[in-house]
Amino acid sequence: PAGPGADQIAATEAHSAHNYHPLPVVVASAEGAWMTDVAGRRYLDMLAGYSALNFGHANPRLIAAAKAQLDRVTLTSRAFHHDRFADFCTRLAELCGMEMVLPMNTGAEAVETAVKTARKWGYRVKGVPDGRAKIVVADGNFHGRTTTIISFSTDPEARADFGPYTPGFEVVPYGDLAALEAAVDDETVAVLLEPIQGEAGVLVPPPGYLAGVRRITAERGVLFVADEIQSGLGRTGRTFACEHEGVVPDMYVLGKALGGGVVPVSAVVSSREVLGVFRPGEHGSTFGGNPLACAVGLEVIAMLSTGEYQQRAAELGDHLHRELAVLAGDGSGAVAEVRGRGLWAGVDINPALGTGREISERLMARGVLAKDTHGSTIRLAPPLTISKEDLDWALEQLRTVLAG
Ligand code: PLP
Repeated sequence: PAGPGADQIAATEAHSAHNYHPLPVVVASAEGAWMTDVAGRRYLDMLAGYSALNFGHANPRLIAAAKAQLDRVTLTSRAFHHDRFADFCTRLAELCGMEMVLPMNTGAEAVETAVKTARKWGYRVKGVPDGRAKIVVADGNFHGRTTTIISFSTDPEARADFGPYTPGFEVVPYGDLAALEAAVDDETVAVLLEPIQGEAGVLVPPPGYLAGVRRITAERGVLFVADEIQSGLGRTGRTFACEHEGVVPDMYVLGKALGGGVVPVSAVVSSREVLGVFRPGEHGSTFGGNPLACAVGLEVIAMLSTGEYQQRAAELGDHLHRELAVLAGDGSGAVAEVRGRGLWAGVDINPALGTGREISERLMARGVLAKDTHGSTIRLAPPLTISKEDLDWALEQLRTVLAG
C-alpha cells in the first residue's frame, strides 16, 4: 500500500521482527484522544495503548510531572534511596487500601513478581512443601509474554514453540466456580485472575464469580491475586474492576495506566504479611521504582484519588453500552454480542461482515483507530478523557462501517 508513511512501514517490515501486525498508520503526534499521522491526517484513538493511555495522550499534568523530574534525577537504581520513592509507595498503597508495594516496569514483570511472591509466601507463611506450590489460573487468560507466563496461557499463538514450559499452574474454565473450587488444594498458594479478561475479548465473568473466588480463597488460605493491569485504574468506572462485586483481593497487579502512557510503571500491591516475605537480594529490577516512573506514577495516583476519572468512565461507559446495545438489538444481526464495563467494550461483529482486522481497517479509513482482539471481536477502550461528542462520532463511524 502506498499510503502515508509507506516507506516507514516497508522498513519496519524489513528490519523489525514480525511479532505484531499493526494497522497501516504511522503516527507522528498525539494529544488527548486524537492521534495525527505523518501526513497530518487525524484519528480518534479508541484503543488508548491497551488502556495505558487512560488519561489521554500528552496529558498536561503527566507531561509536566515527567518534565520536572527529567531536570532533577531520572535513575538511581535501588542501590540508593531517592526522594520520590517513599511517596509513590505510600500513596499507591493508600489508593489500593493495602500496605506494601513492589514496583516494577512492565505488566509481565509485575505478574512474574506476583507469582514469585505467592510462591515464597506459600513456602514461608502457609507451609507448602518446597517446590510444590500451585497457582490456579483461568483459561483464556492474558498475563503477559514471559516464558513462565505463557506456560499457563491457553492461546496456541502465545505458547507454541516456546517450551519447555514452567510447571506449577492449573488452568480452570473462566467463570466456573465449581471448577476453581475443585482445583484448589493444600498446595495451592494463589488464584491468579483478570477480574475482566481483556485480551480474551473483554469477558465479564458471571455475577457472583469474583465474590465466590474471594470466599473460596479466604476459606482455603489461598491468595486471591487480581491482575488489574488492563481493568484497573479507572477503566471500568471504578478504581478496580473487583470493586463492582465488592471484592478486595489479597494482591493487585497493576501496570499500563500506572505510567500514564509516558513511562512503563507496574507494581504488585499487597499486605505486609505477603510482600514482607522478601529479603534484600531476592528480587529486583534496575529500573523498577525509578524517580521518573515514581514522579509520573504519583501524578497518576493523585488524578485517580479524586474519583473524577472513574466517574467519567462510569458515565460515558453507560452511554457507550446503551448505544452498543441499540446496535446489537437493531435486528440487522451486524453485532452478535457486546460485553464490558465502563469505557471498555468487546463488540462481536457478525463474521459475515468481515474479520475483526477488516473491520478495524474500515474504521481506520473513517478516522477511528480500534483493534480486533480474537476473531471478529473489536475492542473499544478510548482514553477516559474522551469527550462525549468524540465518542458519539466514533460510534457513528462504527454504525456506518457495519452498514457496509
Ligand atoms: N496482564 C494483563 C491483564 C494485560 O492485559 C497485559 C497486557 O496486555 C499484561 C498483563 C502484560 O503487560 P505488559 O505488556 O506491560 O507486559
